[in-house]
Amino acid sequence: MTKHIFITGGVVSSLGKGITTASVALLLKRRGYRIKIQKLDPYINVDPGTMSPYQHGEVYVTDDGAETDLDLGHYERFAGVTCSKDSNYTTGSIYSAVIQRERAGGYLGKTVQVIPHITDEIKKAIASLDGDDVDIALTEIGGTAGDIESLPFLEAIRQYRHEIGPENGLFIHLTLVPYIRAAGEMKTKPSQQSVGILREIGITPDILVCRSERAMSEEHFEKLSLFCNVSRDLVIEERDVAHSIYEVPVELAKQRLDQHILEKMGLPSNSLAMDDWRKMLANIINPPRGEVEIAVVGKYISLRDSYKSIYEALSHGGIANGVKVEFRMIEAEDIESSSAEEMLDGVDGILVPGGFGDRGVEGKIAAIKYARENSIPFLGICLGMQCAVIEFARNAGGLEGAHSAEFDPDSPHKVVDLMEEQKKIVNMGGTMRLGAWPCELENGSKAKAAYGADSISERHRHRYEFNSEYRDVFEKNGLAVVGVSPESGLVEIVELESHPWFVACQFHPEFKSTPLSAHPLFRDFVGASKKNRGD
Ligand code: GLN
Repeated sequence: MTKHIFITGGVVSSLGKGITTASVALLLKRRGYRIKIQKLDPYINVDPGTMSPYQHGEVYVTDDGAETDLDLGHYERFAGVTCSKDSNYTTGSIYSAVIQRERAGGYLGKTVQVIPHITDEIKKAIASLDGDDVDIALTEIGGTAGDIESLPFLEAIRQYRHEIGPENGLFIHLTLVPYIRAAGEMKTKPSQQSVGILREIGITPDILVCRSERAMSEEHFEKLSLFCNVSRDLVIEERDVAHSIYEVPVELAKQRLDQHILEKMGLPSNSLAMDDWRKMLANIINPPRGEVEIAVVGKYISLRDSYKSIYEALSHGGIANGVKVEFRMIEAEDIESSSAEEMLDGVDGILVPGGFGDRGVEGKIAAIKYARENSIPFLGICLGMQCAVIEFARNAGGLEGAHSAEFDPDSPHKVVDLMEEQKKIVNMGGTMRLGAWPCELENGSKAKAAYGADSISERHRHRYEFNSEYRDVFEKNGLAVVGVSPESGLVEIVELESHPWFVACQFHPEFKSTPLSAHPLFRDFVGASKKNRGD
């Protein structure tokens, strides 16, 4: 039987519930358990695919094409679990399923209500993690205890645990123990109140994980234990880490969080295998080969979460090369009002990530021109590849006015155009080219050298594509097509022949990079940037 862990959050959002959940998953996995993880989000959007990155951060894409919360990225990166459509449900997707069933007459004349019909649908989502191949399922509840919109989810996990029994289900509550500077004190009251809110709806946390800026004293532990009804050793401190989020699991293991969880659920502890993880951490904390500086030229730069997986994958590339990657985060629009020379001076590599809409596009194009002309290593991703294609067409291919149909439908040279099957689509949600697609690599290319394989599979999220009508013009002028999707013939990777390292791909390699195994393109891009630094 699959055991369940439910993770809730209290006091404030942004405590790093996703990182805590992913860390617990990693530890349990490294003690020999088979894990699945899921996130339940209380907002009404059916998925985050239609939300601005400023609202929600990055949209993380799974192999099976779900557009999901960025916490799923942590789950995959930390714990190496593969997420799918079953890994992320929202209030919107739950209601949508219930309403569809109601319209189909599926409730046989009953009044359809939040309890039991919505809560039943949530419980069905939780149960979808059950299976012979899953020992422990983790369900993270988005939002904060006390939010009106989280209530059905909390009620559903209360019922679920009641039904499976306390030995098969566990509540972990992540809370904040703030430091009040003026008083010079840390305060446990918000956590007590947050646990109070949970108790009112019938949930008593089994384990309290406390986020704090500073070390908690024994008195804080005792107080939280007494007033939150959690035994002393089940009050765990999760202090801010100094170097990397990948330190979190190690810190939690020091306090035996994983062992306590297993004891509570009557499972043997086994031994914890973390040698590779510790080695990787040592490399992050003391990078043996110094630093490289990479410019990320994007549109949503002010919110770091917008490019979460990009920054993570770059750091992974750093780990693989023994360097620390410093980011120069550049708002593409700012290049338009100043210049690429000024803003990119001295960087070792330039990355242009994905995006939508034309704000900043000319700035990205200018950054790419600078990378191309100055032999600076360049990695273009999705819109970043499309901009590379536009730049090359205009400045090296003789195609004046070249553009993407997304930004200039009247361009004389639409070198990036809407995919045929996209032309009929009217709905915005879940209708892009999504998920994993195969791609075959050209012999002798930098991409093939990176992957060391003939054929790869990568995740997509886009409507527009390289316009193959122009393929000859590009190839004649030195921008080679080196990756093609076998059935559709869609162009997936281009690279510059006469450049140290200039590779651009239509897919999103950042989603598949992990700290223990950097994505090949990120690894080689950071490697080329290190070389460019002058190694
Ligand atoms: N806006 C572009 C498209 O839809 C690129 C998308 C992206 O970068 N994810 O094709």
